[in-house]
Amino acid sequence: MRAYNFSAGPAMLPQAVLERAQNEMLEYQGSGMNVMEMSHRSSVYESILFGARDSLRRLMKIPDSYEVLFLQGGASLQFAMVPLNLMRTGKADYIVSGVFAKKAYEEASRLGDAAIAASSADRSYRYVPQPSPEALRPDASYLHMTTNNTIYGTSARSLLPPTNGLPLVADMSSNILGEVYDVSDFGLIYAGAQKNIGPAGLTIVIVRKDLIQAPVAKNLSPMLQYKVYAENDSMYNTPPTYAIYLAGLVFAHIEKLGGVAAMQKQNEAKAALLYAALDRNPFYTSFAEVNSRSIMNVTFTTPSRELDEKFCGEAAKEGLLNLKGHRATGGIRASIYNAMPSEGVTALIDYMDRFARRNG
Ligand code: PMP
Repeated sequence: MRAYNFSAGPAMLPQAVLERAQNEMLEYQGSGMNVMEMSHRSSVYESILFGARDSLRRLMKIPDSYEVLFLQGGASLQFAMVPLNLMRTGKADYIVSGVFAKKAYEEASRLGDAAIAASSADRSYRYVPQPSPEALRPDASYLHMTTNNTIYGTSARSLLPPTNGLPLVADMSSNILGEVYDVSDFGLIYAGAQKNIGPAGLTIVIVRKDLIQAPVAKNLSPMLQYKVYAENDSMYNTPPTYAIYLAGLVFAHIEKLGGVAAMQKQNEAKAALLYAALDRNPFYTSFAEVNSRSIMNVTFTTPSRELDEKFCGEAAKEGLLNLKGHRATGGIRASIYNAMPSEGVTALIDYMDRFARRNG
């Protein structure tokens, strides 16, 4: 039986997608082989990759002035590739809203003059900081932000920071396709796949074409250049073929369900139920400040660490898995991405109420 898996990532995938992959395991559409066994240069595979790319373009309404790239290395490699490719003035500004944002900032600091435009470290990253326009350097190459802070369960949702005209670079790993964004507000968007898209390792980059035209450092490996991926349809080398196939299935599935707006509506409804359950029961304390609450990762604590642990242990026995918070925050974290059915959230709430009665 499939459990309700509240993992922050790798996370649940839609059951319909897994079933489709299962049906196509031995043979993909008359090709005589599984997608994993295919040459990436074959026309049948090309149609899988281009199909996935076009589906993502439709889902996010990506303008033609942007490239859609399939890379590997996770979001963490983007912490380096972004400055390697875009930090043309040698300067870049960062909003430090959590551990991953800080890692991105630290990586840029290794490569140039990175500055913190705003930080929420002062309150343990319980909120999303907004920079004052004066904090942004006019000669910075870009402003980097994280749209959803997976560990803390914080997000500014659709509120984007002031940029003073700087290209906005966003780590969208944990809410891409879960909430509607206007791609044209960004210079570059990147996301690891393992939350709302597909298998870990695959990484999506959406980048404004003009930002990757100018030459980069002469000694920069082609595998680290966005331009090389763009010029080779993400097939400069062998791409992660099966991961892209699965991502394409997820994209098609979301299109069938009504697109990103429909996902956002469902996600808002799931999150509202869960936050209401937290707020009505003083046994639980929400980690994120109210106006910075994420609809993807819901973080909270019980009255003690021992009870947090007991909460997760007993939940697992009921098929509610991976509720343990990140080691940076402790406590409990329920990740409720697109593929988490609302029944999973209702089951969690029911469990929370019972657990509080027994232990309160
Ligand atoms: N950024 C965010 C917002 C994340 O949630 C994560 C991982 N969960 C990362 C970056 C790092 O991603 P990866 O492990 O794919 O490198």
